[in-house]
Amino acid sequence: MGSCLFCRIAAKEIPSQLIFEDERSLVFKDISPKAPTHVLVVPKKHIASLLSSTDEDKDLLGHLQRVAAQVAASLNLDSFRLVANNGRGAGQTVDHLHYHLMGGRAMQWPPG
Ligand code: AMP
Ligand code: ZN
Repeated sequence: MGSCLFCRIAAKEIPSQLIFEDERSLVFKDISPKAPTHVLVVPKKHIASLLSSTDEDKDLLGHLQRVAAQVAASLNLDSFRLVANNGRGAGQTVDHLHYHLMGGRAMQWPPG
């Protein structure tokens, strides 16, 4: 997956503003933030989308939610949104699974 943007960020071939990293995941600031806090929770494993994940990824997917919660707590966010866009119609532009963790402002519902 040499050309995948988030694989390259995970491999440190492309710089990012890293907030958190462990053996299976990293969290870095979105380059085009849509909220005062807008970071991306990303597995190091290349999975193109949530729809592409398999039962083998169950533990990893759970881990990513715990990482999101721990990062939210470390940033003192008690209100936040965790979003995975799946597919072009939903706004996915990078084909490597990621969760947007957004907070610091009031959120609308439903999202557009
Ligand atoms: P999505 O549109 O849901 O696939 O989300 C992709 C996100 O990645 C967008 O919010 C982009 O602003 C963000 N993004 C794209 N390139 C970079 C980069 N080099 N570093 C950090 N975030 C990026
Ligand atoms: Zn990738």
